[in-house]
Amino acid sequence: MKNITVIGSGTMGNGIAHVFAQSGFNVTLVDISKEALDRGISTISKNLDRQVAKGTLTEADKTATLSRITPSTELAAGVSKADLVVEAATENVDLKLKIFRDMDANAPANCILATNTSSISITRIAAATKRADKVIGMHFMNPVPVMKLVEVIRGYNTTDAVTASIMELSKQLGKVPVEVNDYPGFVANKILMPMINEAIITLHEGVAGVEEIDTVMKLGMAHPMGPLRLADFIGLDVCLYIMRVLQEGFGNPKYAPCPLLVNMVQAGHLGDKTKTGFYDYSDPKNPVVAARFRK
Ligand code: NAD
Repeated sequence: MKNITVIGSGTMGNGIAHVFAQSGFNVTLVDISKEALDRGISTISKNLDRQVAKGTLTEADKTATLSRITPSTELAAGVSKADLVVEAATENVDLKLKIFRDMDANAPANCILATNTSSISITRIAAATKRADKVIGMHFMNPVPVMKLVEVIRGYNTTDAVTASIMELSKQLGKVPVEVNDYPGFVANKILMPMINEAIITLHEGVAGVEEIDTVMKLGMAHPMGPLRLADFIGLDVCLYIMRVLQEGFGNPKYAPCPLLVNMVQAGHLGDKTKTGFYDYSDPKNPVVAARFRK
């Protein structure tokens, strides 16, 4: 594989473009928004600068990496020469089904179509195309240039050969791929989100406060971030959305989202991105427990 197209140049898309370009692939980065593309390229450039400052990359490698990325606002042209497309557009089922129909119509017949979705069924996305055998989940973690894991999700019809080539490609990026099957939440979110939800239930029931819960999990379980801090970082709307996917997908009441989580999302307290969630981010470098959760 030489030519990679990444769809969506937001948080995940620019990180995915970064790691492919740094590993020597030609990358076309597609977004509907020119501003998002400009922001994406500028984020990649800043992240590469950080690597140069740390001494893990040379200035020449930085220049070469950036020169391998071509921004585009045209999906059809952007996928026309791709060996692999990694879709990282906004998490919305109808949007993804449309993008996959368009990619299927415009990408070469042997091109693999991967999605970075956190929660949508790979099998459902694959069914929107005429090449379900070549559709696969390639779930990178945030921030992509830093996090080692790639969850490689086999749809119901994904072939062994396609899975093997995506596993191998992930290793070429310096990542550690893990193969999993296509069920709601895959592995990462099937385990992480109920844990976060349980932390919110623990707070809601008054068992302990925000800092106490996070401290128990940080110091007691060696988690780098407590579950409530992590929920704010991910976005409480995203956490609620994924709990609903688990609840609907498995039909098991153990996945019911905590009413406090539902209330906070309805109130627009979504975590870092709205400056308030379980913590208050008025000073983003120094989060403090949000006023309503202080004792
Ligand atoms: P984001 O909102 O930061 O970026 C999405 C980008 O997609 C935007 O720039 C938007 O303009 C673009 N877009 C929308 N419609 C498009 C279209 N038709 N064609 C091309 N581009 C289009 O979102 P994100 O956080 O980067 O998430 C992207 C995907 O990655 C989602 O499927 C999400 O579930 C998944 N994901 C996110 C994280 C995370 O921590 N943010 C982690 C793992 C997976």
